[in-house]
Amino acid sequence: MLVRCFGHRRVRQIQRACRHGTVTFFCLFLTVVVLRGTIGAGKFGTPEQDFKQIRSHLYSRARRVEPHRVLKEAHSDNHAGSSQAYASFDLSKILVDEGPDDEKPDPNTPYTLGPKISNWDDQRAEWLRNNPGYPNFIGPNNKPRVLLVTGSSPKPCENPVGDHYLLKSIKNKIDYCRLHGIEIFYNMALLDAEMAGFWAKLPLIRKLLLSHPEIEFLWWMDSDAMFTDMAFEVPWERYRDHNFVLHGWDEMVYDDRNWIGLNSGSFLLRNCQWSLDILDAWAPMGPKGKIRDEAGKILTRELKDRPEFEADDQSAMVYLLAKEREKWGEKVYLESGYYLHGYWGILVDRYEEMMENYHPGLGDHRWPLVTHFVGCKPCGKFGDYSVERCLKQMDRAYNFGDNQILQMYGFEHISLGSRRVKRVRNETRNPLHVKDELGLLHPAFKAIRN
Ligand code: UDP
Ligand code: MN
Repeated sequence: MLVRCFGHRRVRQIQRACRHGTVTFFCLFLTVVVLRGTIGAGKFGTPEQDFKQIRSHLYSRARRVEPHRVLKEAHSDNHAGSSQAYASFDLSKILVDEGPDDEKPDPNTPYTLGPKISNWDDQRAEWLRNNPGYPNFIGPNNKPRVLLVTGSSPKPCENPVGDHYLLKSIKNKIDYCRLHGIEIFYNMALLDAEMAGFWAKLPLIRKLLLSHPEIEFLWWMDSDAMFTDMAFEVPWERYRDHNFVLHGWDEMVYDDRNWIGLNSGSFLLRNCQWSLDILDAWAPMGPKGKIRDEAGKILTRELKDRPEFEADDQSAMVYLLAKEREKWGEKVYLESGYYLHGYWGILVDRYEEMMENYHPGLGDHRWPLVTHFVGCKPCGKFGDYSVERCLKQMDRAYNFGDNQILQMYGFEHISLGSRRVKRVRNETRNPLHVKDELGLLHPAFKAIRN
């Protein structure tokens, strides 16, 4: 029939074309089957769905090229230890000190904190007269203007976790100072290379007293000390006739010459000539190296229970006061009525008991103003206690203090060991009617005259 219609040659051409078509169709069919297998058009995919899916697959492949490349880069950077990966960055790369080494001091000239000043009281009084906008007593209660000074080494801590605790500690101090209208200064510069370590506070304190005549009291506080009573206001009136207030006991310092008869981690120093003089008398054992090492031997020999180590500022103060009580004693107030400094070892396990029985604002053994982690050295290489115990207890002290801040806003930590917080007061549509339990939102001691 076909032959009749088209002739032999034409029929063979048609048959060849059909065979080619079959092969082409078969190939097309196979392609679709394979594509459906690899991409997956869904169990009940229609040809239209197939097409959409294939199109979107090809499109998204093109789009994914960018992030894919970034991921690959980050991955290889991780190995190279550079670029965007903070976790593996080697900090020593950017911590290069520039400039010449510190000049060596002349061993024949005795160390001084600076040029001798002997009329500071007059200089300061004149400045205060000429600057009535900066009175040294402020507010309705005529409270002394106070500057809280603390600080840490210019270098990062040995373990990054130490820097995290420095952050918690300064956040804790900022909270207390905000509530009590106290200014705060954080120092990370070593002003005098001779006085590195725990002696660094001396040149710093002198510089700040001289630069801020408006400051009546300077409050030094170690970086490893935290406020644990946010409501306690220092009884400033009590120190009206004193220039230097440290936590300690007269008998332990003057009679026993015990090296822990006072603590130099948290003290108040009045801005006056007397204070410049006692700084000068305090400093000579500080210069690092031979002087500090030799002085350490004297202090261990002269003081009770002192272990052998280089001269420290605390022992040097005990020694100075014990040796020259007539000269200094009258103006020194050794406070033990509340914890201007509180040794952590005797306090941290009792926080829960305190919460059960007492309330903030007492400042003493019932609710300590300050908890000081003496000997923990969270920023250093080694401490005198186990790292785990120190860090755990520092967290507890921080949370204990922080609860008093959080309660103002209706929150508190789930427990003293927890970073997490819970709501302890319902939200309200009249927020200004809410009174916080401790009255810390608008405390009287912070009010200013209008
Ligand atoms: N400090 C400083 N710069 C330094 C090293 C230490 O300002 O380079 C301060 C820091 O505030 C620290 C204090 O000196 O808390 C005293 O040291 P530490 O608290 O470790 O002594 P401890 O209280 O354990 O005797
Ligand atoms: Mn300390």
